[in-house]
Amino acid sequence: MSFESLGLRAELLRAVSEQGYSEPTPIQKQGIPPVLEGRDLMGGAQTGTGKTAGFTLPLLQRLMASGAPGKGRRPIRALILTPTRELAAQVAESVQTYGKYLPLRSTVIFGGVSINPQKQTLRNGVDILVATPGRLLDHVSQDTVDLSKVEILVLDEADRMLDMGFIRDIRKLLTLLPKQKQTLFFSATFSDDIKRLSNDLLKAPALVEVARRNTAAESVTQVVHPVDKKRKRELLSHLIGTNNWKQVLVFNRTKHGANKLAKQLDSDGINSAAIHGNKSQGARTKALADFKSGKVRVLVATDIAARGLDISQLPHVVNFELPHVAEDYVHRIGRTGRAGNEGEAMSLVCVDELDLLKGIERLIKRDIPKVVVGDFAPDPSIKAEPINKGRGSKPGNASRGSRKQVMQQRRGAQPPPNASKNSRSKRNVGQSHQRGR
Ligand code: AMP
Repeated sequence: MSFESLGLRAELLRAVSEQGYSEPTPIQKQGIPPVLEGRDLMGGAQTGTGKTAGFTLPLLQRLMASGAPGKGRRPIRALILTPTRELAAQVAESVQTYGKYLPLRSTVIFGGVSINPQKQTLRNGVDILVATPGRLLDHVSQDTVDLSKVEILVLDEADRMLDMGFIRDIRKLLTLLPKQKQTLFFSATFSDDIKRLSNDLLKAPALVEVARRNTAAESVTQVVHPVDKKRKRELLSHLIGTNNWKQVLVFNRTKHGANKLAKQLDSDGINSAAIHGNKSQGARTKALADFKSGKVRVLVATDIAARGLDISQLPHVVNFELPHVAEDYVHRIGRTGRAGNEGEAMSLVCVDELDLLKGIERLIKRDIPKVVVGDFAPDPSIKAEPINKGRGSKPGNASRGSRKQVMQQRRGAQPPPNASKNSRSKRNVGQSHQRGR
C-alpha cells in the first residue's frame, strides 16, 4: 500500500516523499482512512510507530477540506494536546513538515518559556495549535486563546497525560471545546482511567492498535549485564569505549543521578549531557539538539524527560538503573529499533534491582539474556539493599505497584478534587518543570 492509495492530497504526498517515506507504517495504513472519513479514532500506539504522521496527515487534509483559511481572523480549528514540552515541540515540527505546502498556520505553546510571544502568535491567528495542558490553561485564564471553533481534537499519549496528573486540566479544557468535533485519542496503555476518559470523549471510534500493549519491539535486542552498583559507571564507559558507540541514550531513575552520571562520563572523556525536568527549557532543547547533531555522545535522561523524544535511528539505549515501573522499561527501550531500524537495549543490573528485573520480565513475558562483561561480574558477597528507601518504593513491590500509584508517590500528594483554581496554580508552580507546562 502506498501513501497515494490512502487518498491524500498532492501537497501532503509531496511533503511525505520529501521525508523519504516510501510506505505508510501500520498505524498510518489503518488510521488514516477512518480519520479522513471524519470518524473518531482510538489509537493504541507508542512513539516510534509513525503515529504523529498518522494523525497529522489526515488532520491537515480535513482542515483543507472544511475550508481553506480566508482573510480575516483565523480561529483555532485543530488542537493537539501532548503531555510534555519535548513532545509538543516534536509534534509541532511534524505539523510544519507535513503541512509545508498548505496555507495553514500552526504554532506550539508550552510552559518554561515566556508567555508573551505566544500571546502575540495566537492573536495573529493559527489554524492548528499544539499545546501542553498547563500552559494552555494559563492562556485560557488570561483570555488569550479561543477554543470554541475547534473541529479536531488530538490527545497524544493520553496515558502519560493522566500519569502526570493532567486529568483535571484536560477535563477543564474539554468543557471549552465544541461538543461537535472529531477526536483522535492515542495511548500506549489502556488503564481503567484511560478507558473512562476515552468513553466520555469518543463517539463510535475506529479502533487501531499496532503494537500490543506492553510488548517490546521485536527489532530491539535486549540484554542484561549483571554488575555491582559501584562499578556501573566504569562498565558504561567501558561499553561505550570498546564498542565505539557514537550515540547512546542512558536512563537514570533520578534527576540528581542523571546529572551526576553525565558529569562523571564527561570527566571520563565522553561528551555527555543530562536531560530532566529541573533543567530549563533552553538547556533541554540544547541538550537534545547537541545529541541529535552528534556533538554530545551520551544523553542521560529520566523517564519523564525522555518520554516521546523522537531521535531517529537511535542505535543504543542503556538502562543505567532499572525503572520502578515495569512499563517504563518498555517505553525506554522503545526509543531504539524504531521505524524498521535495529536497536540494542542494555540494562546494567545490580543485586538491588533483581526484583525490578523480575517484574519487567513478567510484564514482557520473556527472560532477558544475562551476559557478564569481562571482569565486571558482581561480587556474590554483596547483599541486596532497598532502593530509594523512604520514597514509598520498596524493591519487592515497586514493579507490582500501578504506574499511577508510583507517579503519585513521586509527585507527592494531590490537592483535594475541590481545590480552588488558586491552589491549582500554586501546585503547578513547583511542578511546572515536570508537568510539561
Ligand atoms: P512517531 O511514532 O510519530 O514518533 O514517528 C517515529 C519516527 O518514524 C519518526 O522519526 C518519523 O519521522 C518516522 N516515520 C513516520 N512515518 C514513517 C514512514 N511512513 N516511513 C518511515 N519512517 C516514518
